[in-house]
Amino acid sequence: MSASPEVVVIGGGPAGCTAATLIAQKGHSVRLFEREKFPRFHIGESFMPDTYFPLRRLGMLDKMKSSAFTKKYSVQFANDQGKESQPFYFFENNPHECTQTWQVLRSEFDHMMLINAREHGVDVREEARVLDVYFEGDRQTGIRVAYKEGVEETLNPKVIVDASGQSSVISNRLKLKVWEQKLKKAAVWSYFKGAKREPGALDAGATLVLQLKEKLGWFWYIPQHNDIVSVGVVAGLDYLFANKDASLEEIFWREVDNCPAVKRRIDPDQRCDIYRTQKEYSYRSSRLSGDGWVLIGDAFGFLDPIYSSGLQLAFSSGTYAADAVCAGLATNDLSERQLGAWGPEFIKGMDRLKKFVLIYYDGFNFGYFIRKYPHMKRHVTDLLIGNVFKDALDEVWEPLYEVQRELVEKRMEPMPMAAS
Ligand SMILES: Cc1cc2nc3c(=O)[nH]c(=O)nc-3n(C[C@H](O)[C@H](O)[C@H](O)COP(=O)(O)OP(=O)(O)OC[C@H]3O[C@@H](n4cnc5c(N)ncnc54)[C@H](O)[C@@H]3O)c2cc1C
Repeated sequence: MSASPEVVVIGGGPAGCTAATLIAQKGHSVRLFEREKFPRFHIGESFMPDTYFPLRRLGMLDKMKSSAFTKKYSVQFANDQGKESQPFYFFENNPHECTQTWQVLRSEFDHMMLINAREHGVDVREEARVLDVYFEGDRQTGIRVAYKEGVEETLNPKVIVDASGQSSVISNRLKLKVWEQKLKKAAVWSYFKGAKREPGALDAGATLVLQLKEKLGWFWYIPQHNDIVSVGVVAGLDYLFANKDASLEEIFWREVDNCPAVKRRIDPDQRCDIYRTQKEYSYRSSRLSGDGWVLIGDAFGFLDPIYSSGLQLAFSSGTYAADAVCAGLATNDLSERQLGAWGPEFIKGMDRLKKFVLIYYDGFNFGYFIRKYPHMKRHVTDLLIGNVFKDALDEVWEPLYEVQRELVEKRMEPMPMAAS
């Protein structure tokens, strides 16, 4: 039995490594438990530019700059007819190096983050699965972990940071998960070598979001290094898996046929990986912290992947929580209030993204909106950048909803009678 560290972090994904590294940077003892052996596969490959700031604090920026990861300067949308919007170039809002970001292979990126955490003094234990967290009332009183060798251990840290992703150890234990009924989605995807890229250095690494016919869902198209493109369809779970006998391959290519903008870019012979799938119901925990514990990243909440916001939310919640934990350790205040003091601002930002997600699924048309309200482009770009923790953004909603109403009314107009 080893002495308990001050802080235990559950999960070695981006959120967990962020919090663990920043807390260790302040000289605290931190142990991180990760059930897998890295590198391991994970989905979530496209960054938002505002991840620049946490990456800088983590000491990861130079590592990213010297990596082979594809540089991303923009996002572009195509509507259900295959018509493509102008790219949203991030530098148009802010000509700073932070507006260039990356498309990564998560197995490689997450491994880099785990190594970086070790370099900053985090005691990282891989193949170590957290079995349970103990509570007395609302206060956590300990954590039980099983190591690969079959040995189990109970520790009594002052703080537990839950970054266990969709496993959501504490949220499930305390039954805090609230599902978003409007966002019951699923994804099916694979990887393609040599698939078409946009011409020109600025556009070659762009994320493309390509809508299915009748707006039933969308494809992501994420160019990665090694000449590989990640291509996946996201749509309602009931729609995508309506035919229970259909294989993932059949579902994937059925939807390619429904999406002219993807169909012209990939070829079945270019596939270089298996087909993968994930249900991705959006959810959020009804609480963010308690006495001696705090939730970050997907362990707190998961939002639809349409705008690639998962990593940005993982980094930002990891950063906010690390600062709250360090301040709490300094003043010996590890109460729910102290550990979750950052919650209201964070949730406001997450809610802005959620509104923007729901608008997309209601049939939002980016090209039309920007033509009608060109001066609102900077707000849309801010939402795509991940610069969502500021109130100034809120002036975008009124025009967005107005255009949305207009589009809905247009859809409801009777069709002109066909000539007889
Ligand atoms: C289809 C799809 C596409 C996506 N695309 C994007 C995208 O393009 N861009 C983007 O930013 N986001 C994307 N996301 C979201 C992104 O994947 C997540 O938001 C992000 O990985 C969250 O990071 P995290 O550290 O919170 O959790 P994770 O990355 O899931 O890390 C959690 C870690 O905890 C470990 N763990 C779990 N339980 C235990 C336990 N009991 N004991 C020890 N360890 C444990 C897991 O092994 C894992 O390594 C996508 C998600 C989906 C489903």
